[in-house]
Parts: sequence; C-alpha cells; structure tokens
Amino acid sequence: MARYTESVCKLCRAHGEKLFLKGERCMTPKCALERRSYIPGEHGRKGRFRRKISDYGLQLHEKQKARHIYGVLEAQFRRYYRLAERQPGMTGANLLSILERRLDNIVYRLGFADSRAQARQLVQHGHFCINGQRADIPSMLVQANDRISVCETSRRLPYFQGMAERLQGVSLPGWLSLDPQNLAGTVLSLPSREQIDVPLTEQLIVEYYSR
Ligand code: SF4
Repeated sequence: MARYTESVCKLCRAHGEKLFLKGERCMTPKCALERRSYIPGEHGRKGRFRRKISDYGLQLHEKQKARHIYGVLEAQFRRYYRLAERQPGMTGANLLSILERRLDNIVYRLGFADSRAQARQLVQHGHFCINGQRADIPSMLVQANDRISVCETSRRLPYFQGMAERLQGVSLPGWLSLDPQNLAGTVLSLPSREQIDVPLTEQLIVEYYSR
C-alpha cells in the first residue's frame, strides 16, 4: 500500500503550523517546527509565507493539510470527497466526518496510539477488532454502535501491558466512549462538525474540488 515515507516534520514546516503527526515529540522542544520555523529546502529561510498566496493556493494548502493530518493519499482523499458530496448535508462537514470515521483515526482518538501513523501500523498488524472481528485495514469506516477493541490474541503483547492505566487520562471526543479495563471503545454516534477539533477550514477544500 502506497504511503508517505519522508520526514513528516517537513510537512509541518511546509504548512507553517504544527500538525501533530509524531505524538509525544510534538509537545516537546524537540519539535522540528519549534527549532526550525521556516519551510524546508535551500531557500526556506527566505520565507515563502511572506508572499501573498492566491485563492487557489489557499484552497490547495487546506486540502493538502487535511490529507497530511489524516495520512491519506490524493486518490483516496478524492474518493472521500465524492462520497461526501453524495451524502445529505454540508459536503465539507461530511468529508471531515468520513475522515474521522477511519479505523486508524478511531484507534488514535481512543488513545491506543500516540499518532495516527502509529495507529495505522497497529491496525495493519491486526491488533484491533471491530465487533469481535479482526480488522486490519486502516481505512475501514466505522459505523455508529461499533465496538473497537484490542483483539484477545494481542492483549498479552508488551505494548498493551499497562495500557488500561494509560487510557485513564485520555481526553475523548463526545461521539466516542472508552472502556479502559477491557481495552475497548464504542462509537456512540457519527461525529458532527462541532465535535471534530482539527484546525481545518473545510469550505476551502470544497472550493478546491469545485473549481
Ligand atoms: Fe510537526 Fe510533531 Fe514534527 Fe513538530 S514534532 S514538526 S508538530 S510532526
């Protein structure tokens, strides 16, 4: 499966803001954006952000930012957009709701992983079940009332030892619930726009695809 393999910190530096792609490290002074707050590349220090950006540039920037936050490649992102368009309601909000419902995002939101990239790897390695059935495709979309849990065979792995205690302090969005002792979470409802706390202006993404 194709995926982005370069340094993800470069993405934050290119966007000029923290996208929190590396978990704990993002909260420390080791964060690359804290240390080098200019865009990557030979001429980065000259500061592209001082230039006036066109409307198209802003729309492209926002679309790319959404892709990078959720770790989705262009073709799949476009498919999500077409799916969002076909749903009733606001296309931008529908798009964010679809992205939030990805299994790797749920594993991250429930606190089983520090970042979406780590969650994606855990899912690919077959450590999670949906309603008791092993699910190893990070892009699977969960439904309301689905129960996501660490599979029985994975619970004895060192990574999941002490996980119940670590999950106690997780701050959850209102559309998810967590059962730390059983290493499981439930999707209470599909997320509304107000429940999605990502720094995105989805209207710009809609404008990008509506050109
Ligand atoms: Fe971005 Fe995190 Fe890297 Fe900082 S440490 S640049 S927030 S991915």
